[in-house]
Amino acid sequence: VSAREGGDAKMLIAGDWRGGRAHESVVHPFSGEQFATVPTADADDARDALDAAVEGARAMRALTAWDRTVILRRAADLADQHVEEIARLVSLESGKALAEARGEASRAGEILRLSAEEGARATGETLPLDASPTGAGKLGFTLRQPCGVVVAIAPFNYPVLLTMHKVGPALAAGNAVILKPARQTPLSALRLCELLLEAGLPPLALQVITGPGAVLGPALCADERVRKISFTGSTEVGRQIVRVAGVKRLSLELGASCPVLVLADADIEAAATAIAVGGYVNAGQACISVQRVLVDVRAHGDLLDALRPRVEAIRAGDPLAEDTKIGSLISTAEAERVERTIAQAAANGAQLVAGGRRDGALVEPAIVDNVDPASPLSRDELFGPAVAITKVDGIAGAIEAANDSSYGLGAGVFTRDVDAAMRFVREVDAGSLHVNWTPLWRTDPMPYGGLKQSGIGKEGPRYAVEEMTDLKTVVFHGGE
Ligand code: NAD
Repeated sequence: VSAREGGDAKMLIAGDWRGGRAHESVVHPFSGEQFATVPTADADDARDALDAAVEGARAMRALTAWDRTVILRRAADLADQHVEEIARLVSLESGKALAEARGEASRAGEILRLSAEEGARATGETLPLDASPTGAGKLGFTLRQPCGVVVAIAPFNYPVLLTMHKVGPALAAGNAVILKPARQTPLSALRLCELLLEAGLPPLALQVITGPGAVLGPALCADERVRKISFTGSTEVGRQIVRVAGVKRLSLELGASCPVLVLADADIEAAATAIAVGGYVNAGQACISVQRVLVDVRAHGDLLDALRPRVEAIRAGDPLAEDTKIGSLISTAEAERVERTIAQAAANGAQLVAGGRRDGALVEPAIVDNVDPASPLSRDELFGPAVAITKVDGIAGAIEAANDSSYGLGAGVFTRDVDAAMRFVREVDAGSLHVNWTPLWRTDPMPYGGLKQSGIGKEGPRYAVEEMTDLKTVVFHGGE
């Protein structure tokens, strides 16, 4: 087994599980204890991975769509059989509550199946060339083919979901992949990739290298043989990738500060119930987490009364305990940052009305009221279990406040007014818009990706397959 609790994991390069010149700890954030090690890959390992991936891309291109479907379906079945083992690895490496980790791990198989379907229906179209005076007698069509080598770089917060949303479509489309999981959460990804090999994937089609993004990222992203980078992570690292990538395709799923608009006519109980989920799932470490609650002045008191008991009832604690609802943050340093951001908002006139206490990497679910939209708690990505409430006036004020952000990943509105909902959908600049729910909602087939500084491109197997394939234009001449 490549990666397990208490073991020294290996990385996957050129069909072999290998150690590195150096190794680093994988730590359970809640206890701070090391529970496994992984290799610290260096530039030589990155070069070996690239060389192998070029060969792997040839092997993948030689497979038929049927071959790829059979392998991915088999891998999906294996992923289903290992949900509990993978969920435990996720909970240990990320500090995520085990119940949440099970939900995440149980989606891996389905993402692989969806990917297999979409990879098998990557089609082109016939071209009506004779609609132009010079096109008479020609036969034209487009041919969709694998783009070759895909580099997939993932963040720590959903180590199964986000790696499978990259690896699944890339392989389904007939590419080779080099996966660089987040430094904190490499184990679940290694294990799932081992299952893909067990399912019959050509050995050179998948490389997984572990270690520092600052070294491995540029080595992989700058290489001309890589045709596509699929990155999920912070906007800052996204910008660094853009600077080195050169001429290749990029999908960037980046940071956010997602708003929910609660209008005066909203169903307040429903809004409070949804916000008490959307602001706190995975301890707020979701890019689509509710961060800004923009509530009409007329609904403000009622919303706060409905929200407070719901948030106070969320049980934060030991991630591996069955009754824990939310676990710890990814590290004590991150928890301290969240604590400081909340304290800073309070110093600027906001009121902490629930939670907010920190113990190690654990932060109690918090509500911060009357937050100045200019304060970092509202403006910057928090990535922690707190929501910032700000009063607004009417739909126009709510939309203006929602758009007053450099990000544009997701947004939600609570209203019973169809006209207001339509205006929200048209005028709020975000990649996903939810009417009578919060932005924290994703189903695997849907297109998913942000606007503005939240990124470029869409994930979701159908859209990812499109972005991981090249379109050739073919013209047959003669025969006139
Ligand atoms: P991060 O940007 O610090 O790291 C992400 C990955 O990039 C890691 O694997 C890291 O090792 C690697 N990396 C670091 N430096 C690099 C470089 N110079 N070149 C290439 N790769 C490099 O992000 P994180 O802390 O792991 O995750 C949190 C961030 O991810 C948040 O900003 C969150 O919003 C974002 N995120 C976005 C989405 C989305 O769909 N938009 C989903 C989940 C997370």
